Amino acid sequence: ATPTALLVGTGRGSQLGILIRGPQVLEQTRRIDTVVLDKTGTVTSGTMSVTAIRPVAGLDADDLIRIAAAAEDGSEHPIARAIVAASKDTLLPSEGFLSHAGAGVQALVQGRAVVAGRESWLKAQWALAAPEELAAHIAADEGGGATVIVIAWDGAVRGAISIADTIKPHAAEAITRLRALGLTPVLLTGDNRGAARAIAAQVGIDDVRAGVTPAGKLDAIRALQDAGRVVAMVGDGVNDSAALAAADLGIAMGTGTDAAITASDLTIVSGDLLLVADAIRLARRTLGTIK
Ligand code: ADP
Ligand code: MG
Repeated sequence: ATPTALLVGTGRGSQLGILIRGPQVLEQTRRIDTVVLDKTGTVTSGTMSVTAIRPVAGLDADDLIRIAAAAEDGSEHPIARAIVAASKDTLLPSEGFLSHAGAGVQALVQGRAVVAGRESWLKAQWALAAPEELAAHIAADEGGGATVIVIAWDGAVRGAISIADTIKPHAAEAITRLRALGLTPVLLTGDNRGAARAIAAQVGIDDVRAGVTPAGKLDAIRALQDAGRVVAMVGDGVNDSAALAAADLGIAMGTGTDAAITASDLTIVSGDLLLVADAIRLARRTLGTIK
């Protein structure tokens, strides 16, 4: 394609709300055959709300959510926002906040060393397991598509909080359009398998990779590339940055974090997934592959 055609292509992109880092990006876009999508904030709106609060026996639900909210206050994650929003009381002071991307948070809340995050992380990193009855609730909620955060302090699991997300309005249609362009969609998430499967089924994705750490997301992209695929990664989070940078084409949601946008070649300003297919079609058209 001529430089003029490329400039026209990038200009057309920005009219559509697709910011393209440079004309060379269109060339990368044209060859894509696989589109890997992050779940939370990419396929889903990332606007989460608490659906169940499950303290262990002897603990009050209000106390559980109040302490969890204080620990999560320093996090920008949609999960943290939902927990803070569900706590009606004024926030308790907390200190020593530490965030573990794709896993959870820790903080000191009024002398308690609080850890909140995914069940598998509490087990592997902190040797903390939920009591049997709570574990059964966690499994059931996850099977129903919820994301469940387990909360522990001072060496014992104190309860769990289930959180539900909503699928973006155009997500299923966007996947249909990607398939129509001959592209294979893959769902890649740090979330649990139950929630990932439930979301994937609703939007029409068969290939689901759940419980993946941020480093694991990068490995997944590399493995696909080693298998000969030309891979676009669509994401919004800090936890997606390495995968976005390693992909043949990184696509950030403009509604996401600066880290994701910086690591990407394309930004979909509105976060509308339909524009992912539009971007790929635009590149092919600009470069004369299709009319
Ligand atoms: P996704 O890949 O779907 O965008 P993340 O990688 O951000 O999800 O998070 C993966 C998992 O790590 C979440 O489902 C949650 O269990 C846990 N997690 C991440 N951030 C937090 C947080 N601030 N508080 C509690 N748990 C968290
Ligand atoms: Mg995300």
